[in-house]
Amino acid sequence: MSLKTPITVAYGDGIGPEIMTATLKILTAANAPIEPEIIEVGEKLYLQGFSSGIPDSAWESLKRTKILLKGPITTPQGGGYKSLNVTLRKTLGLFANVRPCTSYAPYIKTHHPDMDLVIIRENEEGTYAGIEHQQTDEVYQCLKLVTRPGCERVIHYAFEYARKFNRKKVTCLTKDNIMKMSDGIFHQVFNEIALDYPEIQTEHFIIDIGTALVAAEPERFDVIVTSNLYGDILSDVAAQIAGSVGMAGSANVGNHVAMFEAIHGSAPTIAGKKIANPSGLLNASIQMLIHINQPETATLIENAWLRTLEDGIHTADIYSEKYSKQKANTDEFADAVIARLGQKPSHFKAVDYKQDVRAKIECYGERKKSVVKKELVGVDIFIDNPQLSPEELGAKLEKINETLQLIVITSRGLKVWPNCMIDAPYTRHCSCRFQATKDIKNLKSISHQDIIALLQQFDALGLDVIKTENLYTFDGKLGFSLAQGQ
Ligand code: NAD
Repeated sequence: MSLKTPITVAYGDGIGPEIMTATLKILTAANAPIEPEIIEVGEKLYLQGFSSGIPDSAWESLKRTKILLKGPITTPQGGGYKSLNVTLRKTLGLFANVRPCTSYAPYIKTHHPDMDLVIIRENEEGTYAGIEHQQTDEVYQCLKLVTRPGCERVIHYAFEYARKFNRKKVTCLTKDNIMKMSDGIFHQVFNEIALDYPEIQTEHFIIDIGTALVAAEPERFDVIVTSNLYGDILSDVAAQIAGSVGMAGSANVGNHVAMFEAIHGSAPTIAGKKIANPSGLLNASIQMLIHINQPETATLIENAWLRTLEDGIHTADIYSEKYSKQKANTDEFADAVIARLGQKPSHFKAVDYKQDVRAKIECYGERKKSVVKKELVGVDIFIDNPQLSPEELGAKLEKINETLQLIVITSRGLKVWPNCMIDAPYTRHCSCRFQATKDIKNLKSISHQDIIALLQQFDALGLDVIKTENLYTFDGKLGFSLAQGQ
């Protein structure tokens, strides 16, 4: 019986084949106990008509091996192509994206010599669900969906990761001063889960100042957990200020499958020149070896790689007259790492991954199953309104229905009726809020039939309804935001 772990390997697009060849060469030289199964995904497959860039045979390999080492992918612009990365993350349930960003001063130029942080990014939800609609000829919508189990999975993962890898602090970054519900639930779950990890220090920042602090004082951070879009932006910032976006690897982790890749893209402008830095993908493969419980090989490769950096053998992206001794191309860099297998760094602390430090952490997000009383108390009806002023619209809708009263009309979240406070309100896209009572503290239940009757009245008035959003309370608490000015 083979003791090798089967892994699925995709070379990817752009610089992908160059950096994957270099990475596999190092893995082979280190006798990594893996058995690669090569699949084709990405640009070529998109152009053959696979809208997500992946054929059935590749899914079969992934189902078998449950491990993917992947080069970067070019998503063709336009034409309805879906991002392969997002498809893989969502289909395979890869809920946590783990991105360590470390500086390697004084060998790699950086303003932040003591930087050593790990960004754990939610990987399946938020705006990256990619649910978008054009609602009028000039209004576009991207839906941000955040679920409690989604928050629980990734935040639980971040704390478990901190515990396993002996990290001392977990920082949560959200924008819950503005998005009180969708970012608010992320922050709330963070506070709840933190209680189970009393030995780990916790803090929370609003994402804007949090990002500024990462850029200015990254050494103050340890593990950061944040949502999908914020984490995507922040991890590129962090990798770049550590030295180069070409250095950082990432693990996309689920309970059953994991995918390992560099954080950077396919870098089309340098593709084929053999100058790309393979370190990001190599670091991802080190994360993979830890994940499949091959800590000795991970240790062997990482120490050889650190030694190569110390010896001043650098690819063009990290080369500097002051710190480097040799400008290596992709293959030369890989050969330099191979030549140092078995050696340890002398300046950097040598790594020594232990058998019990497995990155595989299962998190299911099933903490809270409390029964809530959900009550329908109103509806927001969004219309495409090319003609009517707020006053005209308000006058038309004020007495439209006996059960439901018009409470407020808003445009992009701002109240435009009653008592519009701005000179030239944008009213092309309006939301008309109806409730059975104006008293927000004493809302009354309504029925779906009430809403259907109201919609029929909108139709009779010739108003173009583009969508409705039901207003609920949960155990008496408002499940919707109030309009600015309401
Ligand atoms: P990019 O990360 O490919 O490149 C940004 C900059 O970093 C470029 O100057 C590039 O030359 C440089 N760079 C990146 N990796 C490098 C490396 N290993 N060595 C040396 N220099 C490196 O970002 P982009 O240009 O915005 O995107 C290019 C394509 O990659 C797009 O099609 C995008 O959709 C795709 N992309 C894919 C992934 C992925 O597969 N996970 C991630 C991000 C972007």
